[in-house]
Amino acid sequence: MSEITRKLVFLICFIAIYTIRLYFKQQVSQKKITESRKTTQEKVLLFLAFIGIFILPLIGIFTPWLEFAAYNLPDWTGWIGTAVFVTAIWLFWRSHADLGLNWSASLEIHEHHSLIDTGVYRYIRHPMYASFLLWGIAQALLLHNWIYGLFNILSFLPMYFLRVYQEEQMMLDTFGEKYRNYMSCTGRVIPKFTLRATPLS
Ligand code: SAH
Repeated sequence: MSEITRKLVFLICFIAIYTIRLYFKQQVSQKKITESRKTTQEKVLLFLAFIGIFILPLIGIFTPWLEFAAYNLPDWTGWIGTAVFVTAIWLFWRSHADLGLNWSASLEIHEHHSLIDTGVYRYIRHPMYASFLLWGIAQALLLHNWIYGLFNILSFLPMYFLRVYQEEQMMLDTFGEKYRNYMSCTGRVIPKFTLRATPLS
């Protein structure tokens, strides 16, 4: 896959994923927050992740400024990157659709918050974060650059490890035993297939 095709594929997937985010963001804008666990540490990590997933790829694609940090990968890796990005978009869309009004960009509990354990949440607790990890891998395979290709996954990993622990703690405090049972039936980002007669909630 040529460089121009890789960049074009990246740009199309990039626009698709941001369109999904904007669509669901305006749907949840009216919710009443009853608890927020947003910390300064999280805000800093969110900002770094934003640079990796939004600012740097656009600079890399539309200017020659970061070309000194280019790396080479075999042509076929571009196709793998495309397949990984398409999977990420699907998972990102499904996790937004399944979470519905329970979604928020930071650690929050809303009025009428319910525990979702159906759809993609039946098998994984963090499908949205899994889609971010896939997006980071796809970016490194499509944009061959140590800075704008790799910064996404490198900036998301600390964010992921901090968030997952705090989020699960918040969900345990809110939903108690129900979330504990849910945890035992699901994987964090790797699907766990368990036999379950009825949904937990
Ligand atoms: N970690 C999940 C959700 C990310 S959005 C994922 O990766 O798919 C973050 C918000 O979703 C959190 O603030 C929490 O309030 C909410 N949340 C996370 N898991 C949930 C679940 N199973 N049911 C309902 N809300 C959930």
